[in-house]
Amino acid sequence: MSTTQNNTAEIDGVCDMLNNISTADNDDSTSTCANCGKEGSDVTNTCNKCKSVKYCNAACKKKHRHKHKKKECERRVAELHDEQLFKQPPQLEDCPICFLRLPYLGSGSVYMSCCGKLVCRGCYYAVTKRDTIIGLCPFCRTPSSSSDAEMIQRFEKRIDVDDDAYAMHNLGCRYRNGEYGLSQSHAKALKLFLRAAELGHTDAYYSIARAYVMGTGVVVDMEKALHYWELAAMGGSAASRYNLGEFERQDGNYHRALKHYMIAVAGGVHNALGRIQELYTDRRAAKEDYAKALRSYQAYLDEIRSDQRDEAAAADDDYTYYHSAF
Ligand SMILES: [Zn+2]
Ligand SMILES: [Zn+2]
Ligand SMILES: [Zn+2]
Ligand SMILES: [Zn+2]
Repeated sequence: MSTTQNNTAEIDGVCDMLNNISTADNDDSTSTCANCGKEGSDVTNTCNKCKSVKYCNAACKKKHRHKHKKKECERRVAELHDEQLFKQPPQLEDCPICFLRLPYLGSGSVYMSCCGKLVCRGCYYAVTKRDTIIGLCPFCRTPSSSSDAEMIQRFEKRIDVDDDAYAMHNLGCRYRNGEYGLSQSHAKALKLFLRAAELGHTDAYYSIARAYVMGTGVVVDMEKALHYWELAAMGGSAASRYNLGEFERQDGNYHRALKHYMIAVAGGVHNALGRIQELYTDRRAAKEDYAKALRSYQAYLDEIRSDQRDEAAAADDDYTYYHSAF
């Protein structure tokens, strides 16, 4: 199918773009040519791969090629990649009404297609309880859409008017699943995911990775899936971070797995805490690692818990917004 091919090409385009962004920001004002030793602000010709060796011109770069060892260069490329990968990612935004951090669990927040706000379940539930009219948006007071078609229209409007990446990703998921009166289209779903990804929406990277794992609209490609999970994880997707941990664990890279799980725990992934406990039991992680993970999860809970959210969770099992440590 030609549409599938197109999407793959576009996805690669996004990859290149992001690769360039992540390596472009470590420029010093003056540098030394690795070949002739010349110093100056005009020594800007870098090794295309590791970007960490500089030359004054293309001739010096060419002369130095046999001295700039492939292994060394590759090691540096891997180092730079890991520096980016294991940086503490940004955390989920706060609820715009109660100003508390939004929980990791999807059931703990609601996307409002009227105003594009992601509000916590606690605030949503409080309004539902208070108002006699069911389904008023707790942020902008718009009544909830009366039909599937109206909700889809709202998504489309959010996209047209505000370039809303949440709406793009949401609508993409509806196309992927063939829900809310839409006929299933993986091509449309991917197109929307890519648009949202270009705007930096981490869930969209996650969904692209998922497409590569499942082979929905693209050919199964685990390497690409990993790449998108990495982008998602670096942007703060804790679910992707957990998946990266799983990937490393299955490969027997327990140290890297632990690093991913540790970040995932801080992002609220309860399963990651369980994995760290397993690693500790199997003597693949230290007691201090496990203790640190427990503290980190507790700190996460302290940030997201509130009476209002507890009240919503008590009213309906579907509104659960966290799992207790054990
Ligand atoms: Zn030179
Ligand atoms: Zn190099
Ligand atoms: Zn709230
Ligand atoms: Zn609203």
